[in-house]
Amino acid sequence: MRDSFEIANQNVMPGTHKTIRIELPGLHSETSVYMPVHIYHGKKDGPVLFLSAALHGDEINGVEVIRRVLSLSAIKHLKGTLIVIPIVNVFGFDRHSRYLPDRRDLNRCFPGREQGSLAARVANIFMSEIIERSDLGIDFHTAAIHRDNFPQIRANLQDDQLNTIARSFAAPVILDSMAPEGSMRNAADEAAVPVMVYEAGEALRFDEISIRIAVRGVVNVMREMNMIAKGRVKKNKPSALLRSSTWVRATSSGILRANVKLGDMVSKGDILGYISDPASHTDEVIEASYDGIIIGRTNIPLIYEGEALFHIGRSKETSLIEDHLDALEDEEILTAPELAEEPVIV
Ligand SMILES: [Zn+2]
Repeated sequence: MRDSFEIANQNVMPGTHKTIRIELPGLHSETSVYMPVHIYHGKKDGPVLFLSAALHGDEINGVEVIRRVLSLSAIKHLKGTLIVIPIVNVFGFDRHSRYLPDRRDLNRCFPGREQGSLAARVANIFMSEIIERSDLGIDFHTAAIHRDNFPQIRANLQDDQLNTIARSFAAPVILDSMAPEGSMRNAADEAAVPVMVYEAGEALRFDEISIRIAVRGVVNVMREMNMIAKGRVKKNKPSALLRSSTWVRATSSGILRANVKLGDMVSKGDILGYISDPASHTDEVIEASYDGIIIGRTNIPLIYEGEALFHIGRSKETSLIEDHLDALEDEEILTAPELAEEPVIV
């Protein structure tokens, strides 16, 4: 018999699941705050995978991804252990905010410190209770408020294990990137626990296609790691690799009329939009700085000089991108047999 799984001073027996609440610093009102964590400890040995969402409290797509993953029957016969944290930043989630109440960005405060700021303490708890018990993790994000991201995996592909696992997720594109300093992905990497980030959609909104790509991605990863049976499934389209990415920024403050949407392929010099100045009626042309795919953009037309407008990913694998774009156009994932039972959020 496999050993029980110990987390937050509790034991989860093999073949069972448990929901625990990890205590965080409380509110001014003396209300206690807990981070909910579900643990599925399989009967058979296997890797420990964690799934986390809402580390930025207003990025809620991943919360729904996790709800759907936990409803899959395959989880009942899991090999290994699944640790699931639907809401990491409980404080921000309740306030519809990216940040913690101390105005810090939790994803810049890792690995944290036991005696540090509120953000450092939450990060430290996540490091010691979740990351240090895991072999691999997937952290779900969206673009910030009033911004939108094309479904993408971000991972350091120099890590051999991550390279294989990130590709198995089968998102339309993978951005090969180092994690920002202070991010959970970066701290996990330093602790030798590979973590990849899934970015899709916008803050405070659900996006059905992004959610479905992610649920399928988690299933693909668990299959790749032999945590669930391979089954008879349609082969996924390989992800297109983005070698790098850059934001095109506003050259002046004003009102933006965007001419490209997420997933559009652009060539250097293409017009991405116009910034008008309502006082002088002048137009500033915003051009693509190089060839690529639009993987992020702002949705709010009111912009300041220097603001990030369009995020362009560079890739040589344009035919792979086109295959994914065709599938998205046909909304194939809405009728994918393994995901068909879930009603569509519109
Ligand atoms: Zn985020």
